[in-house]
Amino acid sequence: MNIKAVRGTKDIFGKDSEKYDYVVKIAGDYFEKYGFSRIITPIFEETNLFKRGIGEGTDVVSKEMYTFEDKGGRSCTLRPEGTAAVVRAYLEHKIFALEDVTKWYYHGSMFRYERPQTGRYREFNQIGVEVLGKKDPILDAEIISMAFEFLKKINIEDLEVQINSIGGKETRLKYREALINFLTPKKEKLCADCQNRYESNPLRVLDCKVPSCKEEVKEAPILLDYLNEEEKNHFDVVKQFLDIFGVKYVVNTNLVRGLDYYSNTVFEIVTNKLGSQGTVLAGGRYDTLVEQMGGKETPAFGFAMGVERLMLLLSENHFNEKNKVFFVWLGEETKIEAFKLTQKLRNLGIEVGIEYESKSMKAQMKRADKFGAKKVLILGENELNEGKIVIKDFTKGEQEEILLSEVENKLI
Ligand code: ATP
Ligand code: MG
Repeated sequence: MNIKAVRGTKDIFGKDSEKYDYVVKIAGDYFEKYGFSRIITPIFEETNLFKRGIGEGTDVVSKEMYTFEDKGGRSCTLRPEGTAAVVRAYLEHKIFALEDVTKWYYHGSMFRYERPQTGRYREFNQIGVEVLGKKDPILDAEIISMAFEFLKKINIEDLEVQINSIGGKETRLKYREALINFLTPKKEKLCADCQNRYESNPLRVLDCKVPSCKEEVKEAPILLDYLNEEEKNHFDVVKQFLDIFGVKYVVNTNLVRGLDYYSNTVFEIVTNKLGSQGTVLAGGRYDTLVEQMGGKETPAFGFAMGVERLMLLLSENHFNEKNKVFFVWLGEETKIEAFKLTQKLRNLGIEVGIEYESKSMKAQMKRADKFGAKKVLILGENELNEGKIVIKDFTKGEQEEILLSEVENKLI
């Protein structure tokens, strides 16, 4: 059979699926501490949801969607992101009538027709959070801090938190004019994409990744200078509370997000280890989206992170693998005790590997290595007679003999 996975898609198995589960589990557990609960939405939605929610002028909607017609003639689209569906669910189930603040997190596959590269796929996974119903700038800082602390928790280091404020609609309209005036004489020097969008979506030129565009916008007018009092104050409180929460950040005045619905705070967490796929997490405040989708004015804040990009970073850091143990038994007399103890440890939640047939020490140690054991238990006849067992810790390079009755305590 020579059928392969479709370009831009992939199988996740072995160590990678362990990493995947690890990231998702820690994220969920940690977000729950902040009052988030999980929402699971469909993988496809009506195409109009994304057109309305993300905006027809965006790259995602204009170029990247997987859209198809179902047998009933409906236009459906595989979700390219999570926020639009979360807002749809919020309105459809009238959650606003039940609670004044809603905190949801989600994870799952997203689909975008992009050019596949390391850290960029056509089917990829995101973990995201959305808070609906609150405008306080402390919330912005709290959620940025949560994102940052989560990444620290899974041992991803050397990250930079970048923040900016893009103000509200009026501010952006004023700024837009100034920016277009600035860009017009430079038009020829911009990349083809930016030449096309510099009038329809000039803010996007600011965060274009093409080096020549980066150079051209260096002297561009700064959005922060256009904020009104209220917006300025909002941004100041966000910064103040990031300081209070101990989150180091830089203000990147060229940071804008691709979607029209953002307002005030926007942020990204970036690494320099993944080339141009350096953004691992991105989000911000979107106070107008709920209204745009037919609801009442409802402030909101959220972010999404790319699980595959996190997984790529995890391989360079010490990924906290599970505490795997391999049980080496030597001689038929030790077999029953070995299996009894193995089952007991598994019932206590420890992952234990063991051979069924009697094998040499060397063969079993080789097996332990393949299994990815962090520790090995070795039970020989002498040890069994003395009620003892040897425990070898590969990570520390230590070995000691302990009482059989102590094994559980040593491993948990
Ligand atoms: P980029 O500028 O890298 O295309 P984006 O602005 O389109 O990102 P968002 O829509 O904000 O990204 O998605 C949030 C996160 O999801 C990104 O920061 C990234 O980690 C991840 N992500 C986005 N697109 C892809 C993709 N095609 N493959 C893998 N991960 C992705
Ligand atoms: Mg993109």
